[in-house]
Amino acid sequence: MPQEPFKIYGNAYYVGTHGLSSVLITSPSGHVLIDGALPESVPQIVSNILSMGFRVEDIRLILNSHVHFDHAGGIAQLQKLSGARVAATRWTAQVMRTGVVPRSDPQFGITNPIARLAAVDIVSDSQTLRAGALSLTAHVTPGHTPGGTSWTWRSCEGGRCLNLVYADSLTPVSAGGFYFTRSRDYPHALGDFERSYKFLESTPCDILVTPHPGFIKLWERLDQRRSSPDALIDPTACRVFAADSRELLKTRLATEMGKR
Ligand SMILES: [Zn+2]
Repeated sequence: MPQEPFKIYGNAYYVGTHGLSSVLITSPSGHVLIDGALPESVPQIVSNILSMGFRVEDIRLILNSHVHFDHAGGIAQLQKLSGARVAATRWTAQVMRTGVVPRSDPQFGITNPIARLAAVDIVSDSQTLRAGALSLTAHVTPGHTPGGTSWTWRSCEGGRCLNLVYADSLTPVSAGGFYFTRSRDYPHALGDFERSYKFLESTPCDILVTPHPGFIKLWERLDQRRSSPDALIDPTACRVFAADSRELLKTRLATEMGKR
């Protein structure tokens, strides 16, 4: 579904579709794009970028939350259109280079493969990436996939600088027959979720965006912004997101225990 693009804050813009986020962070010396949604979403993302007054050719770096087809499916096309460099965690980069969904993906067997990318740079936890005047930090937040990554940066408006967080999905969703409690292909899944919650509970977080905008009620908040300009700003958002995710995992684990 199409979505009119909008400024999130400062130099950060929402350029995704209604159901799948893509965020453009801009600078006069080049932009960063996080997530490419579906292959079919690319024309919408491109026209959204244009209508905010920017050019796809000026994207210098493309990042990803997790390498499922609904967030990474458009990246190969967007890379071709922009000539940007793509950077991802080692696990994610391997999937991008091969286009093959590995068995360690909880959704192995039910998720579509993505178009292959010729070159992907590897990033590690807490690494800061620079593109033009921009710098973003990678935070390894696995669980939904073993390569999940959240991204943080600061955006300023007037003299007011805020911490923005693009936090990866943390839903414990899997193919039938996969157990987060006892997977041979992803044995450290539970520890990974815990690590991701800890990140969300401690990171400075003024504005949160997630790959599925519905998870953080983005559209309701955007409506509220018409009457209250700071409606997207919520320093509790990351902690609430962590708490919601913890609940989902708890429910999931109870189900898995019942299947022992
Ligand atoms: Zn996913």
